[in-house]
Amino acid sequence: MVLTMQKQKLFINGERLKNTLEEFADFGRTENNGVTRLALSEEDRKARDYFRSCCEELGMSVKVDDMGNMYATLEGVENDKPPVVIGSHLDSVKKGGRFDGVLGVLTGLEVVRTLVENNIKPQIPVVVANITNEEGARFEPSMMASGVLSGKFDKTTMMRKTDTQGITFEEALDSIGYAGEIKNRLKEAKAFLELHIEQGPILEKESLKIGVVECVVGMACYEIEVTGESDHAGTTPMPMRKDALFAANDLITEVRGKLSKLDSNLVYTIGRMDVSPNVHTVIPNKVVFSIEARHQDTEVIRQVEEIIQGLAQSPVQERCEVEAKKLWGRDTVWFDKEVVDSIEQSVKSLEYPYKKMVSGAGHDAQFIATYIPAGMIFVPSINGKSHAEDELTTWEDCEKGVNVMLETVLSMVTK
Ligand SMILES: [Zn+2]
Repeated sequence: MVLTMQKQKLFINGERLKNTLEEFADFGRTENNGVTRLALSEEDRKARDYFRSCCEELGMSVKVDDMGNMYATLEGVENDKPPVVIGSHLDSVKKGGRFDGVLGVLTGLEVVRTLVENNIKPQIPVVVANITNEEGARFEPSMMASGVLSGKFDKTTMMRKTDTQGITFEEALDSIGYAGEIKNRLKEAKAFLELHIEQGPILEKESLKIGVVECVVGMACYEIEVTGESDHAGTTPMPMRKDALFAANDLITEVRGKLSKLDSNLVYTIGRMDVSPNVHTVIPNKVVFSIEARHQDTEVIRQVEEIIQGLAQSPVQERCEVEAKKLWGRDTVWFDKEVVDSIEQSVKSLEYPYKKMVSGAGHDAQFIATYIPAGMIFVPSINGKSHAEDELTTWEDCEKGVNVMLETVLSMVTK
């Protein structure tokens, strides 16, 4: 029989993690214990400055690139090798929560603190990254800086984006002192790892502690335009009407019925509707509404699109014209299999209940995954809440998530 020596497991300091999360929640804390920390605001600057000082205290060197992304590097034995990067975002939406984004950045900080206090010098460098403007709440679009890093968005166009006050992204970046150099951009890495709150109810509902994220699901977004005719609501007999809203109502019932039969994992939303002229005495002559659907399988999305496009020929049109226009779509982004496996191994070794799952929401890691092997770890969101002041993940669950990150990083940076 061969006996293997069991390596002593390393754990992070949950109390320290909690305290640091509380400290960062002060940067933009709202009345109801939420956070408003819009990208490149004064609150964002304070959080960035404090993040920098925490990193420097650990002997890390901090660099900033031309999009304001911050990279704090803990040196390794072989510094010419590509690093392992742990990253997320410090910005929030208006009246957002204390966990979305910031938890992923502070996960990196806590992992490095644990390495340093245990005198573990990693074989390759470990970088903790704060990616600028993930939320897109002040400057659209969301995931702006990771989009530029991955070549998805054009930098010049992004620099000119304005907030509601007319301030450009470029001006805001300058004004908080975080316009860095293009040469500092994240170019290559062994892995990009992002820990994030789930932002959905699944983990909590299934009493699981960790989600090993396999992909960010693809989606298709359409706009349906129904054109009828406006007439007097009191004088026009029912059979002679071209009521665009009744038509839209029937179309929605039809599309819902068909989509509900496709796949139980499919999610679909009609989130926006404009009715014209929107006057109670006038028969509506135009209704425009959106339909978006998300699923990981390309084939399911293809069927969804077929159903939506078929609405134009639907018999339930109340004598109206129906047009289905595709606004945009995105393919499912699958995370790197080796990275996903190594996260799963880490969870198993810690014996936390987990499942492999998909992300229905977008994250920086999905853009970065197009050029760096990437993976994500989810921790439970109480009641599935996020982008809200009552967003909550228990301290114990945060701690478990960061332990998974530590274990994953150790598997990549130690021999
Ligand atoms: Zn986020």
